[in-house]
Amino acid sequence: MKIHSLQVGTRALKRLCVLAVALGSMQSTFAQDKYDAQINSLLQKMTVEEKVGQMAQITLDVIGKGPNRYASDEPVVLDKAETNKALVKYHIGSVLNTANNRARTPEAWYKIISDIQNIALKQTRMKIPVIYGVDAMHGVTYTAGATMFPQQIALAATFNRQLVRSGAEITAYELRASSIPWNFAPVLDLGADPRFPRQWETFGEDPYLVTELGKQMIKGMEGEDNNVAHPEKVATSLKHFLGYMVPVSGKDRTPAYISDQALREYHLPAFKAAIEAGAHSVMINSGIINGVPVHANYNILTKLLKEELGFKGLVITDWGDIENLHTRDRIAKDHKEAIMLAINAGIDMSMIAYNYEVFCDNLIALVKEGKVSQERLDDAVRRILWVKYRLGLFEKPTTNPKNYAKFGSKEFETQAYLAAQEAITLLKNQNNLLPLAKNKKILVTGPNANNMRTLNGAWTYSWQGEKVDEFAGKYNTILEAVQKKAGAGNVTYVPGVSYKMDGKYFEEYADKMDEAVAAARNADVVVLCVGENTYTETPGNMSDLYLSDLQTELALKLAAAGKPVVLVLNEGRPRVISKFEDKVPAIVQTFLPGNYGGDALADVLFGDINPSGKLPYTYPRFPNSIVTYNHKPSESRSTVEGVYNYDADYNPQFEFGHGLSYTTFSYGNLKLSSSTLKANQTLTITVDVTNTGKREGKETVLLYISDMVATLMTPDVKRLRGFDKLSLKPGETKTVSFQIKPDDIAFVNLENKRVTEPGEFKVQIADKTVSFQFE
Ligand code: BGC
Repeated sequence: MKIHSLQVGTRALKRLCVLAVALGSMQSTFAQDKYDAQINSLLQKMTVEEKVGQMAQITLDVIGKGPNRYASDEPVVLDKAETNKALVKYHIGSVLNTANNRARTPEAWYKIISDIQNIALKQTRMKIPVIYGVDAMHGVTYTAGATMFPQQIALAATFNRQLVRSGAEITAYELRASSIPWNFAPVLDLGADPRFPRQWETFGEDPYLVTELGKQMIKGMEGEDNNVAHPEKVATSLKHFLGYMVPVSGKDRTPAYISDQALREYHLPAFKAAIEAGAHSVMINSGIINGVPVHANYNILTKLLKEELGFKGLVITDWGDIENLHTRDRIAKDHKEAIMLAINAGIDMSMIAYNYEVFCDNLIALVKEGKVSQERLDDAVRRILWVKYRLGLFEKPTTNPKNYAKFGSKEFETQAYLAAQEAITLLKNQNNLLPLAKNKKILVTGPNANNMRTLNGAWTYSWQGEKVDEFAGKYNTILEAVQKKAGAGNVTYVPGVSYKMDGKYFEEYADKMDEAVAAARNADVVVLCVGENTYTETPGNMSDLYLSDLQTELALKLAAAGKPVVLVLNEGRPRVISKFEDKVPAIVQTFLPGNYGGDALADVLFGDINPSGKLPYTYPRFPNSIVTYNHKPSESRSTVEGVYNYDADYNPQFEFGHGLSYTTFSYGNLKLSSSTLKANQTLTITVDVTNTGKREGKETVLLYISDMVATLMTPDVKRLRGFDKLSLKPGETKTVSFQIKPDDIAFVNLENKRVTEPGEFKVQIADKTVSFQFE
């Protein structure tokens, strides 16, 4: 089945709504499910009002005691009247988020969620537990003392499936230790545009890498068998379905234009694989594709997600996105019409956040008027109840922190540290400036040198990350970690530039810049820590991808001081550094490495650890040259004949997959099991990798395959089709092997079908190539 054109106008959408009503009577997809009898019996007894309540999700501040719905008193306790109104009168089925945008202890969470469940289970007629959800994006964002991992972009740079998996397992454990069974993660969007303020929340620009690591996230959080009732597992929510992070402007929640073919070729595979891996819920893209807000797109929500992909779980909106159909996107004349469009398009639960009465009252009316069918209502509630049953919430509505002794333990911290270590990516190292000797006089400078906030990024103890230093005092900043390694006496610190910590993420000021430059003259080496302050979503929108003017000025002045500069990047997206890159001999990318990022970086700088990260995106050299590695041939033409003797301008600063080591690797013996591949066959590709240097090191082997000619649809220059990470001792050789099936090299054609066409395919691993024919 294919997605029809996404250029659907309001009128057509209204027609589709009628179709949705008709489709509602289709046979249930849950016919064989073991919870069917219980769910059916509940559905039979529930009133329309009770069903609608299940489809409503509110934020904790709404029921927290406090001045209004947007703020709660501290410490947070439930407001009896407000909670009764929401849970008992309006039958609300779900709560999300923390109160006052602040992390809480596991014990505080246990108390809050137990109080909520007590009311839901004892005071409501149907006794259905509430499902509580939060964004645990790199560890449990809103739990004080939880283990904070590198953000997803940094995890992607590890190219290490096992590290991603164990991080996800720990996050699930610590969520349950906080009594929370539902995570709005992982992010499976493609991070293909460095301007987008959430690129760092993704696994980067490549569909295969996102798919592979996404599957690890699902299995890590939900368990190999997706038994999410297990007290150490949680339900995941894939987000943001579909095509969220590539709007034309590069700004959050602005219009994207994506062909159906491109949606399927690049954006869909990771979601499809994660659904096949058993993910229990999906969150919808808050943006607009080809003019149509995704929350009202029946083709994407119902035809593609629920029917074609066969998704059985619950589909939730993003924050306030039904309301947005009316107030922001203007495809609905009022709130009621917006609700009708979204629910009929396939939304099961609305992340209303605040004004739940409007949602509930209007949806009840729509059902009574026949504008939303009973069948559609039952389908939505069935999916919600199914997830609640699967989570075991009816028997065990809360989990007690007392039973989670490993919460925040050394064992967990070690995993976060290891992930940070493998994420750190050495981009440049002229004359082997790194590793540094420990007796050097070092100037540590730059706005990212001495705070925990920038190491973590947003979604850490609060939404935008502004409270990190309050919660993460016991961990080492870059400065502290370097001081520990090299001895405080060898280290001078002058910020040079600082962020305005109570301002917007891009607000900064010169902070003893001249002193920093003077100190550089007295040092043997300068460790310059630049990048970005924390942000996510719309507050993180940007208008210029160059690193800020002040930081660029600092870099140029420090380089001119004559001492070698090690540039440490600590940033959510690759800020352009070409104005001074040629003046710094060494560059290390830390991404957003989390609470152990300072320690891991110091270990890399001083050579206790050999770096092994690789870029999960293309690092641009110019803001107007944003091209991913899997571009079309016309974007990177080599010189053509005669007077047209130009080079196309594919000119990244650093390519996707780039990353150096303190040792060297060579590749040889790239071999195929056969020079032809036929349908139903598997091709084995092997290559020998040798550590030709003097240190033990880890190398990620990247397998690229190019389809040399494709029918009408210009093929990408190359595509990542496999990767493996291995550890090699000096002089050691290992053989890496990849299995490729015809579908692994398929592309989505003009009819939106995945096909593998006969013809030549080129295999590339490092500097070696070999070809085969698909017959
Ligand atoms: C974000 C989602 C998040 C939700 C709940 C939204 O604004 O786009 O990624 O899950 O808020 O916090």
